[in-house]
Amino acid sequence: MLIVKKFGGSSVADRERIFNVAARCIEDYKKGNDVVVVLSAMGKTTDGLIAKAHEITPNPSKRELDMLLTTGEQVSVALMAMAIQSMGVQAISLNAAQIPMTTTTAYGQAKLKRIDSERIRHELDSRKIVVITGFQGVNKYDDLTTLGRGGSDTTAVALAAALRADRCEIYTDVDGVYTADPRVVPNARKLSEISYDEMLEFASLGAKVLHNRSVEMAKRYNVELAVLSSLSCAEGTIVKEKTKMEKMLVSGVAVDKNTARISVLGVKDEPGIAFKLFDLLARHRINVDIIIQSIGRENQKDISFTVDRTDLDEAMALLRENMEVLTAQAVECNSAVAKISIIGAGMTSNPGVAAKMFEALSGVHINIRMIATSEIRITVLIDEEDANRAMRVVHDAFSLAE
Ligand code: ADP
Ligand code: ASP
Ligand code: MG
Repeated sequence: MLIVKKFGGSSVADRERIFNVAARCIEDYKKGNDVVVVLSAMGKTTDGLIAKAHEITPNPSKRELDMLLTTGEQVSVALMAMAIQSMGVQAISLNAAQIPMTTTTAYGQAKLKRIDSERIRHELDSRKIVVITGFQGVNKYDDLTTLGRGGSDTTAVALAAALRADRCEIYTDVDGVYTADPRVVPNARKLSEISYDEMLEFASLGAKVLHNRSVEMAKRYNVELAVLSSLSCAEGTIVKEKTKMEKMLVSGVAVDKNTARISVLGVKDEPGIAFKLFDLLARHRINVDIIIQSIGRENQKDISFTVDRTDLDEAMALLRENMEVLTAQAVECNSAVAKISIIGAGMTSNPGVAAKMFEALSGVHINIRMIATSEIRITVLIDEEDANRAMRVVHDAFSLAE
């Protein structure tokens, strides 16, 4: 059997954890399996590297930032290969350029294009455990790129697909996917299974237990994922196409604090303004989520929307430069906001669901600033300081606890 095992930052945070992971990999190897290990940077290394870059300049070049961040994963894989070797088993570490794993050119948010499996196969055939850097790729200029925060999950799924692995296991610091972040909602319940579609919404709406692109890729290549704890042997969560569970009305609650609201005020109420605004942002690869446009009055209107908080400064600078083109009187923003979402394949055409969520929030006097809905999710924008409380009351309202 060929097994891809991915371990996140906390699972390789120190010497003891590295040896714990090494032992788990060796256990599978000794049963005769081929083992490919994908690692993240140790602990909070990536955050530390970003902070270091900002000590130098508030606006580091995206290429240089990727050059810096990719070092984190390289440290992990080298140490892991040494740990495995010291336990008497052959291992080799490889980075993205050595494989190679090629991506698009977009530094900081590159997309994987192709994985050459020859080198990996060769090393597996000589009975080595192959330890590969997550999160990184190499582009057509031979530069290192990164796949976006949390991207090691995507590396693991892509490798599982490319190598036609029999199993893809994602090890983290919780023992599965829960109905809400168990650190915020202590009585959240572990899901034994979840479908790709629900998991994709969940991940896109803030449940960072899996990188959303990893779920997208798992669905596309039909890679079944097991989300497990690196510290226990508890049964985790299986992410797959169809689940045995009946369609729950609501299967989970997610919070996303990486969000900010922008309001473009007093633009002309005429055709083409919304196009100019969102085209400008799209051309700079700034994603927009919830959009609200006010009803026109005296030939003017306001347009508000949310962007990732990490894109806020760039978006505000762009909008300020283009106020005249956009006919805007003012541009404002607020980054002390959070998105709370409920997700569930069963909520399609069930009108009571939104009301129930709003009732729960109003019961604890939490003000809703924006609302967005789709067939399988309802999202509200609220003040960030209310986020954790909101998670708990909404989770309770839908009786999702144990
Ligand atoms: P890793 O470093 O292993 O990739 P992450 O920090 O990226 O780990 O993801 C694991 C974290 O995801 C957990 O510690 C947990 O706080 C958070 N999380 C958010 N939502 C959920 C959820 N619904 N179920 C489980 N964990 C969740
Ligand atoms: N080390 C990277 C990050 O912190 C990638 C990952 O953990 O998946 O975002
Ligand atoms: Mg992660």
